[in-house]
Amino acid sequence: MSRQAEPDDQEGPPDRGGGIEALRRSSAFRGPAEPIEAHDHSNGHLALLYESRDEQFAATIPFVRQGLERGEQCLYITDETDGDAVLEALGDAGIDVDSALESGTLLVRSADETYLADGSFDLEESLAFLESTVAAGLAEFEGVRVAAEETWLLEEADTAEEFMALESRVNELFRDENCAVLCQYDRDRMPASILHDVIKTHPHLVVGRTVSQNVYYTPPETFFGPDDPAATVDRMLATVRERTEAKTGLREHERYLRELYETTANSDGSFEETVERLLELGCERFDLRGGALAHLPSWESNFRAEATVGPDMGDLEGELPVQPAEGNFCRRAITWDEPTAVPDVVEAGWDDDVVFEEFGLETYFGIRVTAGTDPYGTLWFYDTSPRDDPFTDDERTFLKLMGQWVSNELERREREQFLRTSYEITSNPDHTFEEKVDQLLEHGRDWFGFDIGYLTSVATDTNRFEVVDAVGSHERIEPGVTDTLSETYCQRVMDAGESVSVTNAVAEGWEGDPAYDTFGLDAFLGTTLEVDGDRYGTLCFGAQTPREEEFTDTEYTFLELMSQWVSNELSRRERERFQRRLYEIVADPDRSFDEQLQSVLDLGCERFDMKLGGIAAVDPETDRFEVEVTNGDHDHLVPGERYPLSETYCQVPVTNGGTSAITDPLADGFDGKLCAQRFGVRAYLGTYLELEEADDRTFWFIANESRDEFSEAERTFHHLMGQWVKYELERQQYERDLEQTVAQLQQSNDRLKQFAYAASHDLQEPLRMVSSYLQLLERQYGADLDEDAREYIDFAVDGADRMRAMVDDLLAYSRVEQADGEFEPVDCTAVLENVRADLWVAIEERDAEITVGSLPTVTADGEQLEQLFSNLVSNAVKYNESEPPRVDITAEERANHWQFAVADNGIGIDPDKTDRIFEVFKRLHHDEEYAGTGVGLPLCQEIVENHDGDIWVESEPGEGSTFYIELPKRTAS
Ligand code: ADP
Repeated sequence: MSRQAEPDDQEGPPDRGGGIEALRRSSAFRGPAEPIEAHDHSNGHLALLYESRDEQFAATIPFVRQGLERGEQCLYITDETDGDAVLEALGDAGIDVDSALESGTLLVRSADETYLADGSFDLEESLAFLESTVAAGLAEFEGVRVAAEETWLLEEADTAEEFMALESRVNELFRDENCAVLCQYDRDRMPASILHDVIKTHPHLVVGRTVSQNVYYTPPETFFGPDDPAATVDRMLATVRERTEAKTGLREHERYLRELYETTANSDGSFEETVERLLELGCERFDLRGGALAHLPSWESNFRAEATVGPDMGDLEGELPVQPAEGNFCRRAITWDEPTAVPDVVEAGWDDDVVFEEFGLETYFGIRVTAGTDPYGTLWFYDTSPRDDPFTDDERTFLKLMGQWVSNELERREREQFLRTSYEITSNPDHTFEEKVDQLLEHGRDWFGFDIGYLTSVATDTNRFEVVDAVGSHERIEPGVTDTLSETYCQRVMDAGESVSVTNAVAEGWEGDPAYDTFGLDAFLGTTLEVDGDRYGTLCFGAQTPREEEFTDTEYTFLELMSQWVSNELSRRERERFQRRLYEIVADPDRSFDEQLQSVLDLGCERFDMKLGGIAAVDPETDRFEVEVTNGDHDHLVPGERYPLSETYCQVPVTNGGTSAITDPLADGFDGKLCAQRFGVRAYLGTYLELEEADDRTFWFIANESRDEFSEAERTFHHLMGQWVKYELERQQYERDLEQTVAQLQQSNDRLKQFAYAASHDLQEPLRMVSSYLQLLERQYGADLDEDAREYIDFAVDGADRMRAMVDDLLAYSRVEQADGEFEPVDCTAVLENVRADLWVAIEERDAEITVGSLPTVTADGEQLEQLFSNLVSNAVKYNESEPPRVDITAEERANHWQFAVADNGIGIDPDKTDRIFEVFKRLHHDEEYAGTGVGLPLCQEIVENHDGDIWVESEPGEGSTFYIELPKRTAS
């Protein structure tokens, strides 16, 4: 904010018109009250009416000094006074007289050198002189000031009339110029007739240090000759002075008000600092020695001085040493609305007061301050000597304003304190809701000054209320107590649907009413609690004694804030309770979807207060609505029943997408439709579930009674349930699809295996034929054949043998699943013994070392396990160039399975190829290097999978290989 230049401002810009406005800014002069612009007067022509030399200099010296300071040329015309005396006085006032004289800023001339230069006064010549002086001065300086002593008129009384004509015309001369002329008249010696004219010709008068707007000033054109008596002059002067002083007082009052405003509006300081500044301002304003803000904590206690200013206040700091019974000024002041103003304590007869006796306070000026409705203390000022004048209305107003500000501030502080404490209570994470409610009730009880605070839940339909929580002692208001609702104030609260208060039950006519008679609460304040938009109960405070003051808006606001918090918390808890129950239902693994769905529909009915919930398959294109599931009986909405979708409320969510609520069917245009007309449904909450790969559904709740709008929380909960239903329906659909695909795959797999089995089985016979006949051919005609032919036959026999081996292996492979699937306990150690016996030729041949660790008994197909280990051990010996080949078979027990390892020190396998070796007929070597069919490992895999296990290999070329097998632990089938 830009600061406006104020009239008191010493540093304002030099103003046009000069003198008088400048004087207003000078601390040496007081007045005039009104800004000069409002007047039609010439600006800078003043008459000083003095009675002594001191009085004369008291005005002329500051006048000249101010001019010099403002860079104006000052001409001092002396007559009776000696020029040197003037210079000395100027020097005393801090003016560098020599340099001022030297620069020509200051000129000191006698009357003889100026208008009496020709020996006698001449109007035209004097005018011309003044004109040229002003013109010359203005050409060089900021302005011109003339201070002229007019004592010479005493001797030249006959020229007085002519001189007055000059005075009159001077006004014209200075109009709109930065000039000021201060003409000095000795009031005592000048004849009244001259003074009369002086008053008429000067727009401004200076009397003492007061500059007045001269109401008797007569513009030149209406100027008449003087013939009024001296008495008139006196009267005139007195009037002028009174007026000016009144105006000056007004200005002063305004100035203090402004300062008061500025002090209180300045939000930088603390309350205490501001109060201290107010006290200082008050001392200045009332011209008193000191002041204090005193707090009276209770009627039984003493005042405490909370802020003090003044030289004697050291003694008064802290608790005022006055016993309550003895009283003191403040104790009187606190009981009165208006200021307590005692300018003279003795005169007022208050001299028996302790404060007077102990501290000698002879003037007291104080007012009560309040915090909210409660008296808080006093804001007071004092002096140790009596005051001459009574306290004025302005002063009283000023004190009242200060008191008001303090009261407002105290109330604000209390409000903040209340809110802060409330916040601390409600935001404490270590406390439960119940603990917080208890603390809030205590807090409210304290705040309202009541005996008890309590929270009720009400059931209007059964006319019962139950005290849920209570603090304070009251025999009938205890947690868990139930009673008849209609006989309580709570009923009134519920009826009103807003805050209800009683300050004095008897006075307000509650006597005879059970609400008062039963509980005996003389004062009461209560409001409603809502849970998710529904009436829940009340939050109340009560006292068994009447309360003096009405409840303030702030108190109502606090009650509302508390009830809002409690309502929100209750709503939140309610919501969480339902969400938890929903979660418990849908997360229960022991319940089927259908059972869960029934519970979810029941839960929704409870949550929304609805009669029936259900799911329907819908298709907007064919206008289909088919009831699929409901959680109760209904005449029409029965699973399997079909209706036109357009005749149902479900049409709305289907059209709009998402969730729709209908609480006023007629307003929504359902009049005459099946759902409203025949089914009698009055309230509906439904969601459209668009499902992927399945029929779209609607998920809804209905009631035959109309109800209020659904709250946001209810819609959210409904949406949540709808999402679960959608997810479950989709999941079921996916599962069905997946099962179908798996079944199809299984079928084609089975067909393939059947084919492999059939093919390998049926190929065996022709193959045997081929090799038998080839052998026959060799045996019978071998001698007739040449070397080549015999070699060819050998190749053919070889090929047939290899093919038979492959067919045999393939047959074994395709048989794995054909096994009867009966698993029984199999001792793996025994299995490995058989394997070793079977493979003894190869083992002996290579001189291989086979070590078998401690192996478990597992539930499995024994024959298949033997095939599995036989293949792995034979491969371990076969694909092995180490001497001797070593094979370690070990087993480790895990939580749910056994892990076997068959490790060798053989040639190893390229890690990139470890997957390929499990494919049928895939080999990493040529038959010439290592003979084989490429079916051994696929067979192993098939066996392991047949046991719901897993097989894999870890190997590096040249580092040996380890085949791992996991077999789940299971009991025999
Ligand atoms: P076959 O042994 O009849 O060739 P398998 O299915 O048993 O067929 O094995 C497939 C291929 O895996 C083998 O040809 C061989 O290259 C590789 N293999 C199997 N076991 C081992 C092993 N212990 N060390 C190195 N390579 C192996």
